Amino acid sequence: MLNLATIVDRTEAEGPGARFAVWVQGCPLRCPGCCNPAQLAFVPRDAVAPEDLAARAIRAGVEGVSLLGGEPFAQAAALARFAALVRAAGLSVMVYSGYTLAELRARSDAGVDALLAATDLLVDGRYVAALRTDARRWIGSTNQSLHFLTDRYAPGDACFSGRNTVEIHLRDGELVVNGWPALGALTGRKIIGGSDR
Ligand code: SF4
Repeated sequence: MLNLATIVDRTEAEGPGARFAVWVQGCPLRCPGCCNPAQLAFVPRDAVAPEDLAARAIRAGVEGVSLLGGEPFAQAAALARFAALVRAAGLSVMVYSGYTLAELRARSDAGVDALLAATDLLVDGRYVAALRTDARRWIGSTNQSLHFLTDRYAPGDACFSGRNTVEIHLRDGELVVNGWPALGALTGRKIIGGSDR
């Protein structure tokens, strides 16, 4: 089972096109200035089967899914199952990880390898507040990189040349923000997730 913090069924702020975004609960890293402190603790939140999550993502009618956190690779095996199912339905997979690609490949972990194999786009590396930037889409600090792990997307695609964006949703009477994380920090509004890493 997956342990999830938040789901947004349709967003255009967390990767190319319209995406089904999933924030997992729990991250072993502790980047100073992390925009999602409520998602760091490894505590039980919403338990969801990968198959049920995939069915919901496919029903959303989106271009792809984005996996954020928390740290997606802390739940790599279950997310790999989810990612394989949505890719089989034609959706793309984008993952934001605090680990670098080199660190992940060095793990020699079957779940990590399976999730990497099912990933089209990977944003990697810790969020470093001193290197913060909003000049590159979906990149939070300049030490981070966007890796094209398949040919589903190309660096020259127009979607990669813009700046980070933010979305504000009214859900169940509560104002929530996703996308560029600094806005939530500035306004004090609840942040349900940010592509800061
Ligand atoms: S920025 Fe990302 S990798 Fe760093 S502590 Fe926060 S959730 Fe974890």
